[in-house]
Amino acid sequence: MRNFEKSKEAYEKAVDLIPGGVNSPVRAFNSVDVPPIFMESGKGSKITDIDGNDYIDYVLSWGPLILGHADERVVLALKETAEKGTSFGASTIQENKLAELIIDRVPSIEMVRMVNSGTEATMSALRVARGYTGRNKILKFEGNYHGHGDSLLIKAGSGVATLGLPDSPGVPESIAENTITVPYNDIESVRYVFSEYGDDIAAVIAEPVSGNMGVVPPTQNFLHDLRTITEDNGALLIFDEVMTGFRVGYNCAQGHFGVTPDITCLGKVIGGGLPVGAYGGKREIIESVAPTGSIYQAGTLSGNPLAMTAGFETLNALSEASYEAINEKVDKLVEGYKQASIDFDIPLQINRAGSMVGFFFTHEPVINFETAQNANVDYFSQYYGAMIEEGIFLPPSQFEGVFLSTAHTDEDIDQTIEAVRKAFSKIKN
Ligand code: PLP
Repeated sequence: MRNFEKSKEAYEKAVDLIPGGVNSPVRAFNSVDVPPIFMESGKGSKITDIDGNDYIDYVLSWGPLILGHADERVVLALKETAEKGTSFGASTIQENKLAELIIDRVPSIEMVRMVNSGTEATMSALRVARGYTGRNKILKFEGNYHGHGDSLLIKAGSGVATLGLPDSPGVPESIAENTITVPYNDIESVRYVFSEYGDDIAAVIAEPVSGNMGVVPPTQNFLHDLRTITEDNGALLIFDEVMTGFRVGYNCAQGHFGVTPDITCLGKVIGGGLPVGAYGGKREIIESVAPTGSIYQAGTLSGNPLAMTAGFETLNALSEASYEAINEKVDKLVEGYKQASIDFDIPLQINRAGSMVGFFFTHEPVINFETAQNANVDYFSQYYGAMIEEGIFLPPSQFEGVFLSTAHTDEDIDQTIEAVRKAFSKIKN
């Protein structure tokens, strides 16, 4: 049995200092029977906790670390940048470098504004959409999470779903009433909402692959149809690619599916493990932001040189081949899970888009928030505990995908499949 004494001690102290002992709710491990684990260090695909337990990491800081932990190129560049000063409140070359890379790779982005988190990116994108169109209503999808901005914390997926909070107290009704939600992958509901409110809708915001109710890819034509409907009604289409951006593929989900939104929100990978978000899109739209336009949005640390450096080095290290390599590892992992589910008679749905992959303990296909709820959370909790014992660190919620990096090796995958087989063999009804 692994020893978690130091983690337990640190957690006891933390709960007295920080709400729930954590600075983001998913870290509280509320939906599994394992105490929150405090981490000490990471290198490549591996992490070590403060009790000295090692793990193969499939959380990767919830997605950003696509090169794995402490990648030498990133660390070296960060050291060089830090030695020259960590923030100026004036422009730096690092901002241009990351912006150029993003514009080069993301089909919809002609111009980009850096912010500090995915939440800020989506909040700002909504303000731009509302300011640009002169309309107030937003259409979002159940189980899609777009950060914790008031307008978007409505039927918002994993963290909220796992905690069982349908909406958050503190979001005024007057704000929530401007957000319309419909089931993901349900284009007929979208058409209906547009037939009722079409002239008032500023934007449709969607995760092009949903990653916050577990991984749920778009059904065929869903994204294309969203593009057509928004265009026909003078509304903007916003893709929240905070999770999918530079994760699903080299040109993000929009490149993968061949659908170009008006505005794209980014985060996670573009910060290489430092706090970054960004939103970008058509020049004409993004130029409506201050100081070129009148829509206000700002940030003391936006475009921070350290964050820009980590993001640039990360994106710069990625090629089309990097994604092919990750995909091959995902193929192998998926095969292993499939075989284990057959051999041990465990109900399992595997959902995948590019290198984004998630597992649900259910016989039923998972296509939206409602069907995701069929997943057996008790199986997940048993499996999770067994995987931790085997040294595999997974997101502590079934309603999150697993993340792989270029640093994950074939041996890591073999070891993980071995662990899955042991875990599945122990699951009790
Ligand atoms: N949008 C999506 C799709 C996300 O997955 C997340 C975070 O998980 C966010 C927005 C919010 O990003 P952040 O946590 O950086 O504020």
